[in-house]
Amino acid sequence: MRIDILTIHPDLLFGPFSHSILKRAQAKGIAEIHIHNIRDFSTNKHKSVDDAPFGGGAGMVMMIEPVALCIEHLKAQRDYDEIIYMSPDGVLFDQKIANKLSLSKNILILCGHYKGIDERIREHFITMEISIGNYVLSGGELPAAVLTDAIIRLIPGVLNDETSALSDSFQDSLLAPPTYTRPADFRGIRVPDILLSGNPSEIDKWRHSESIKRTKARRPDLLGNSEE
Ligand code: SAH
Repeated sequence: MRIDILTIHPDLLFGPFSHSILKRAQAKGIAEIHIHNIRDFSTNKHKSVDDAPFGGGAGMVMMIEPVALCIEHLKAQRDYDEIIYMSPDGVLFDQKIANKLSLSKNILILCGHYKGIDERIREHFITMEISIGNYVLSGGELPAAVLTDAIIRLIPGVLNDETSALSDSFQDSLLAPPTYTRPADFRGIRVPDILLSGNPSEIDKWRHSESIKRTKARRPDLLGNSEE
């Protein structure tokens, strides 16, 4: 899969993709992440990418032209499954959307800044708008990193143990069960005996019942969707 991210602050995006699982996914050639500086597509002599809003009011608005030129430049090279704008008023991101997007070949993600982008970009270039939560951040870079991470870890071959993504929270409308690792006894605080039993089917049963217990306690709203 290829993900193109359009931003006016590319530096904000270098860290999240240079470590751990996302770094490995790129090294294995399973995912390609390309970051584009919208400023490179500005045609005015100051290379500006924002301007005051028509009608007045606080804040600056990202201009239509550099964003349009950047999207057109990329669209001329390949087809995109989705052209996504990160926005607090978009559809709320969840595991279901991540699963669906993980089947894509090419995705383009546009990060806004300031008061947002010129509405005409949203009307004429964007195919999907996604929010990562009901709060407002300064820019779309962190949301784009969240989206990219959630999508890429779902592509087969990215996680070492492929079943691992399947047992994550939300994947089956249940929260994940508790996890433990060595030592089995830390200052007298012990891990549940069942996990040391060496009996895989009993361990599976225990994990499933812990998942249900946890989901009932913390997220009863999810159980409506469960097949359990
Ligand atoms: N004036 C806008 C907010 C702009 S915040 C409004 O009230 O809706 C600046 C940029 O940050 C946005 O263009 C968007 O790309 C990004 N952003 C902020 N909060 C976000 C969220 N919860 N989810 C996704 N993107 C967000």
